[in-house]
Amino acid sequence: MRLLFKHEEIVERAKDIAKQLTNRFKGKTPIVLCVLKGACPFHSEMIKYMDMDIEVDYIHVSSYMGGTESTGIVKIKKDIEQDIQGRDVIIVEDIVDTGRTLSLLKPLLMERGPSSLTFVTMLDKPSKRVVDFVPDYVGKTIDDLFVIGFGLDLDEKCRNLKDIYVYNED
Ligand code: 5GP
Repeated sequence: MRLLFKHEEIVERAKDIAKQLTNRFKGKTPIVLCVLKGACPFHSEMIKYMDMDIEVDYIHVSSYMGGTESTGIVKIKKDIEQDIQGRDVIIVEDIVDTGRTLSLLKPLLMERGPSSLTFVTMLDKPSKRVVDFVPDYVGKTIDDLFVIGFGLDLDEKCRNLKDIYVYNED
């Protein structure tokens, strides 16, 4: 296991993004949506630094592969409690890898008529993209590595690690 990012570095990025979102949504009350489970630590850090009225909600999804490389289905395991019609929704994800999860989630949320959707991800692996998906805000861009800690799991464990590590590097 190799240390990739110290806790403090990630918190610093959460703070930067929170400031940008505060400026962008001034005068509005966005819903800051945490994609369970991995985004929880980043989401909780980020909302602390959003200097405005916000509402918080949670969604739990799982994506499955379809017949071809670029398709799949997303299943909502736990839905948002609020009605998002006419609302600004900021979706916070742990990591964007193939891009499937968020590109499948996006149309499902769009059907509900939000005023806007903004995608934030703690980490981004653009080199692994299978479908075209570009997040609006990225904490850190990383290479094709499997990472754990700060919410990211290894078979449901390791989410509680304070820092982010590369697992099993050759
Ligand atoms: P995508 O749909 O973009 O391929 O993948 C999104 C999900 O795959 C993430 O929300 C995360 O749960 C999982 N994932 C992708 N890469 C990694 C990684 O490097 N480490 C861990 N722990 N999970 C990952």
